[in-house]
Amino acid sequence: MTYTFVTLFSNLIDGYFKDSILKRAIEKNLLEINYVNPRDYSVNKHSKVDDTAFGGGAGMVMNPQPLFDALDDLKSKDENVHIVFLTPVAKQFVQNDAKRLATKSHIAFVSGRYEGIDERVIEKYADEVFSIGDYILTGGELASLVLCDAISRNIEGVLGNSDSLTVESFETPLLEAPSFSKPKDYDSLSVPSEYLKGNHSIIRSLKLALSECKTKFFRPEQLLKQRRRKSYEK
Ligand code: SAM
Repeated sequence: MTYTFVTLFSNLIDGYFKDSILKRAIEKNLLEINYVNPRDYSVNKHSKVDDTAFGGGAGMVMNPQPLFDALDDLKSKDENVHIVFLTPVAKQFVQNDAKRLATKSHIAFVSGRYEGIDERVIEKYADEVFSIGDYILTGGELASLVLCDAISRNIEGVLGNSDSLTVESFETPLLEAPSFSKPKDYDSLSVPSEYLKGNHSIIRSLKLALSECKTKFFRPEQLLKQRRRKSYEK
């Protein structure tokens, strides 16, 4: 998978790939990271990339010209590039999107800054548009990294143990059961005793019960979804 980050501030992104799982994935040639700075495409003599908004309003808007030229150039180099814009107003990115996008060969994430991007750029170039939640960030770089990280975990070979993917929260309507590690007792808190006894069928049923409790507590709407699905299947 190739990721191209279209951003005015690549330094904000670069550090994330300097350690841990994604660093190893780059070393194994499973991921390749590129950056495109729209400023490099600006025809303005001061390399300006933003201007005031037509119709008034606070703040600056990213101009179409540098982004049109940057994205045309990107598409001319790879016609299969899948262009994703980050914006707070779009559909929220979920696990199924991460799995689906992991099958692409090249994704470009376009990050807005200031008051956002001239809408004509999004209309012309977006294959998809995502938000990461109902709040406003200063720019799309963090949001791009969130998508990139979630997508990368679903690319074969990126995680050391691919079993991790199948038991995770959001793979089914139930959240993952609580996890515990050594020691058995810590600060007067114990691990549920059944987890320690090695009877796998009992552990499985306990984990299922705990998953249901956890889902009921944190995400009751997930359980409702599951019940509706079951009654529909009957
Ligand atoms: N004026 C815009 C609005 O009210 O919809 C917000 C612009 S925001 C300050 C600048 C950029 O940050 C956006 O163009 C987008 O790329 C990114 N951004 C901010 N919040 C985001 C979110 N929740 N999800 C994805 N991208 C976001």
